[in-house]
Amino acid sequence: MRIGLFGGTFDPVHIGHLRVAEEIREAFELERVYFIPANIPPHKNIQLITDSDIRLKMIKSAVRDNKYLSVSDIELKRKGVSYSIDTVKSFEKRFKSLYFIMGIDAFYEIDTWYDYKEIFNHTNFIVMLRPMDRKPGASDVFPNSLKTHIKKIDDVRFQHSSGNMIYLQQVTQLDISSTRIRENIKQGKTTRYIVPKTVEKIVREKGLYRT
Ligand code: ATP
Repeated sequence: MRIGLFGGTFDPVHIGHLRVAEEIREAFELERVYFIPANIPPHKNIQLITDSDIRLKMIKSAVRDNKYLSVSDIELKRKGVSYSIDTVKSFEKRFKSLYFIMGIDAFYEIDTWYDYKEIFNHTNFIVMLRPMDRKPGASDVFPNSLKTHIKKIDDVRFQHSSGNMIYLQQVTQLDISSTRIRENIKQGKTTRYIVPKTVEKIVREKGLYRT
């Protein structure tokens, strides 16, 4: 089974997330893409993050009508800081072929991730580019510490010494962020057409992001 792993804070999940998951699922013929909300994201301020149960509920409601999209609560159950290496190793036990999905901005900082070199031994990567982005070369994309392990296949495909692939994939990145959505809600502005209706309903019911 070819499985996509899409991690994030998803506070809240929005149509930018859903759209890229759908496009990547289609382009790579993935059987399923798992949204994996982080319990404590290593790079964000935990104080400001919505309760994990509520974030989980919002994502579940957002993907309910798409049979290719699922949610995994693995990082929430594991508690503590959510490290991708642990998540990938866990999925590896269940699925043969993993594709870790992330934006190019985050990928540029991969060498700040816990045990990042090891992650490449356990999963393929799909690195999302915006259509406007210049296609970066291997020398731009990979940190020095990884370069000796990476072989360029062509402009958008690279191979790690483990055999795993790193793909650069253009996607429609809508100009939407959870941060801006939270700010809009705080200012009493509408989020219609930016987050799914089911998510809007939960935000309203729980009174999220008002303060
Ligand atoms: P925040 O504004 O709180 O930082 P965010 O909107 O960037 O949140 P995250 O939960 O941090 O959302 O993102 C999870 C993943 O989704 C990341 O890999 C990020 O690159 C990607 N992503 C976020 N926004 C978009 C978007 N508009 N289009 C495509 N991908 C996105």
